[in-house]
Formats: sequence, structure tokens, C-alpha cells
Amino acid sequence: MTKLYLTIPCYNEELVLNDTAATLYNKYKELKEKSLITDDSRICFIDDGSEDKTWDIIKRLCNKNQLFCGIKLSKNKGHQNALLSGLMTLKDYADAVISIDADLQDDINAIDKMLIEYEKGADIVYGVRNKRTSDTFFKRFTAEGYYKILDKMGAKVIFNHADFRLMSKRALEAFAEFKEVNVFLRGIVPMIGFKSEIITYERLERMAGESKYSLKKMLALAWEGITSLSIRPIRFILGLGILSLLVSFGILIYTIVSLICGVAVAGWTSLMLSIWLLGGLQLLAMGILGEYIGKVYLETKHRPRYIIEEFINQ
Ligand code: UDP
Ligand code: MG
Repeated sequence: MTKLYLTIPCYNEELVLNDTAATLYNKYKELKEKSLITDDSRICFIDDGSEDKTWDIIKRLCNKNQLFCGIKLSKNKGHQNALLSGLMTLKDYADAVISIDADLQDDINAIDKMLIEYEKGADIVYGVRNKRTSDTFFKRFTAEGYYKILDKMGAKVIFNHADFRLMSKRALEAFAEFKEVNVFLRGIVPMIGFKSEIITYERLERMAGESKYSLKKMLALAWEGITSLSIRPIRFILGLGILSLLVSFGILIYTIVSLICGVAVAGWTSLMLSIWLLGGLQLLAMGILGEYIGKVYLETKHRPRYIIEEFINQ
């Protein structure tokens, strides 16, 4: 039997939280009857600085039932940091922690399979969605394309796995040694090693409320993923630099030849073009370099990735 803790990041989830809690309560009852989890297993909600009634609901749930516990972060730190705070706090109490979204789009019946894999000796069990029918075409296209780009960039991520996974105490303790401030969990977890397994499930539609991942947050996460896992964009700049140097040699020869032939004034178009092209390339290159330097700057400051304001039913 496993002492299982669930960690659920919540940002403005007042519309789904009560249903989620009820569903998970029943799930836990079922798991206990099946003797998969111990009686002191818990469900922990992380309030990621919500502006609505999320924390009030969590407090009420915790007062009613010791099964639930709640962590309140001092401000909105984003999904990844909220998850991180849950994993790092709960690792001291649990044998294994499963992270799952508050909207229960991920199939909670996969939890049984995760626990069985864990009992068979896996330290990390990844939940992988078998299809993306509940997503819009746009999200499916961009998400799957993104996983492929990440792969090309040399980052090892599990295709179509988001943040629904089980991690053992041992894996979490190893993970705690990864001190980076720029967190992209699904890229870092595979670096831990240990025996891992994959289970597949079908992802459903959100129960209520809207996605808390705005396009802006999604792009930010995507960019975080690339820049915190790969330095290939910088190499790409180097390649571009070498290429334009070669091209400019060609242009040098061309201008000298034109000068000798006496048709130099005609070169205005090509001049304009190259100024713009090179200017653009330089700005792009500087931008990408700046991005990485910015990351280094943030990392060197060792700022806390989250701050816990309150922990109830600890
Ligand atoms: N979330 C969070 N902080 C944020 C944004 C989202 O903790 O700043 C949580 C949110 O409450 C949910 C999970 O992250 O539990 C995933 O968000 P959502 O379901 O809105 O994303 P989607 O499934 O649309 O990708
Ligand atoms: Mg969702």
C-alpha cells in the first residue's frame, strides 16, 4: 500500500473546485477499498494566488475533512511553480505524489494504473494522452509541433505528456537537487533517471470555467521550455553569422567587379537589401543572446521559486 498525496495547482478555479474535491473524495474511497493506498493518504490543493474564492473553498474543504490539505502561495507564480511548491512540500509526507490539474481533464482512473506501476518498482510514471480529440485544431497542431521542435533542439521530453505524473519520494528527493529557477518540469523530470513507466489515458474536456492558460502563458511556457533545456538557438545564430559572412564575401567580389566595370551606382537596391537583412539578423541574434543572458542573470540571483503563505491541515 502506498501513502499517496495528490497535488493540485489551482488558479481561479472556484467553478470546478467543489466538483473536483467530491470526485477525488470518491476516488480515494475506491482506492482505499482496493487497498492501493493507505488511510492517511491525502489530497492537497495549491492556491496559486487566485483572485477569486478559490482559497475560501479550499479552507472550507479542509475544515470539513482531514483528507484535504491546502497550501496558499503568496502570489500568482504560474502553473509550473505552483506544481513545484506542491511536490517539494509533500515529498516529506508521502511515499508517492501524483500531480494533476484542478479541472480533472486528465483521467483519474489512470491513478490506479500509476499506483500499480509504482508498486512494481517504477519511480516515475508518466501519464501520456493517447489522442487529442478534446483539443481545438489550433492547440493540437501547435502542441504536437512544439514537442517535435523540442526534440530537434535536443531536449528529451515525453511526447504528449504534460504534468500528470506520479513521482516516488526517492525521485522527488533527487529532483530537489535541481536548483534552477527557470522551471520546465516535463523537461527536467526525465533527467532524474530511475526506472520509469508510461501509461496512456484519454484527456477530457474541462468541466467548467475557462482555460487558465492564456495564449500568452502558453507561449511563455513554450519559450521557457526551449531556452531552459537547449542552447541550440544560440548555435543557430552562430551558423547564421557564418553564413552571412560567406555571403558578404560574395558581395565583396561582386561590388569590386561592378566598380571595375563602371556600373557601381546601380547597386542601390542590393545595398538597401543587405542593410536591412543584416540589421535584422543582428537584432534577432542579440535578442536571443539577451534571452539567455537574462536567464543566467535570474539563475544567479537564486530567488525563491515560490513562497508559501499558509499551509492548512498540515
Ligand atoms: N494554473 C495555475 N497557475 C496559473 C495558471 C494555471 O496554477 O497561473 C493551474 C490551473 O488552475 C489548472 C492547471 O494549472 O489546475 C492547468 O490549467 P488549465 O486547465 O487552465 O490549462 P489547459 O488544460 O487549458 O492547458
Ligand atoms: Mg485544463
